[in-house]
Amino acid sequence: MPVEPHVTSPRTLSEAYALLAQQPHRPVAGGTDLLVQITGELGDPPDRVLDIWHLDELRGIAVDGDALVLGALTTYTEMRRSPLVAEFLPALSEAAATIGAAQIQNRGTIGGNAANASPAGDTLPLLIACDAELVLGSERGERSVTAGEFWPEYRRTALAADELLLRIRFPMVGDRQVRFRKVGTRRAQAISKVVMALAWRGDDGTAPWRDVRLALGSVAATPIRAGATEAVLDGASPDQSTADRAASTLAGELNPIDDVRSSADYRRAVAARVLHRLIREAGGW
Ligand SMILES: Cc1cc2nc3c(=O)[nH]c(=O)nc-3n(C[C@H](O)[C@H](O)[C@H](O)COP(=O)(O)OP(=O)(O)OC[C@H]3O[C@@H](n4cnc5c(N)ncnc54)[C@H](O)[C@@H]3O)c2cc1C
Repeated sequence: MPVEPHVTSPRTLSEAYALLAQQPHRPVAGGTDLLVQITGELGDPPDRVLDIWHLDELRGIAVDGDALVLGALTTYTEMRRSPLVAEFLPALSEAAATIGAAQIQNRGTIGGNAANASPAGDTLPLLIACDAELVLGSERGERSVTAGEFWPEYRRTALAADELLLRIRFPMVGDRQVRFRKVGTRRAQAISKVVMALAWRGDDGTAPWRDVRLALGSVAATPIRAGATEAVLDGASPDQSTADRAASTLAGELNPIDDVRSSADYRRAVAARVLHRLIREAGGW
């Protein structure tokens, strides 16, 4: 039988920092990942849990200078309902709509998705494709880590034991387009077989693309960028020949595994198809 961990619920961020500095605690936000771990079904159950749900400092969606900023405790429902997300990063709203079902969307947070570090976490490729910055804090102060550096290896993050993820900053780039696509077994309550985020700068029409970012989840031990495919897309127009070349480059570049959710061959083929379709939709052909 799992033993119930000791839970502390600080009311302020400085109280939370002090507790984390004294002894190790596992933070819990919405608990939709952690509760599975507490039963011992997945991973080691924690001895001490820090309930961060009441920390107002980790809430809110705002525009701050040239960035859209989401507090770590922002839920999927809040993302879906936010006019700011709809205006500045609609792909995030789309991604939030694909996660779990209503119960998970009401409780699950963007910070929990990032800190849980599952390679199948649906928002992770979006964070990478958008060059998001994750702001971490502890008694020692705050620091920023880029999404590209936040998941160094399987289920690990750049967070130190005494740090909390405070907020995520998405730089707003005027002419940037972002697309998101998830492939699972069904529309709701499905863990991704492949999840993809594609970002580029340029017009939506036939103009050549710049600053292309192609990030994928569920195809490696961590969320990844597909650098060879990005190189094919950078400077190219979204026409059929670009789509064909990019899709076959991606199929060659990916090295996924076979597991209970999908085969490596399926993941490779479906990733190439999804990319082909995203380019076709962007090119309007
Ligand atoms: C039925 C079901 C369906 C699901 N469907 C999906 C899905 O479709 N796509 C998907 O990506 N995920 C899915 N999940 C997983 C989960 O809901 C998400 O990953 C969610 O975003 C986790 O957020 P949370 O706030 O509940 O995290 P929690 O469970 O509270 O925490 C998760 C981990 O992150 C750490 N953590 C949380 N917040 C912080 C913080 N601010 N600072 C430092 N560490 C922190 C915790 O210590 C823990 O290790 C599903 C889960 C369930 C149970």
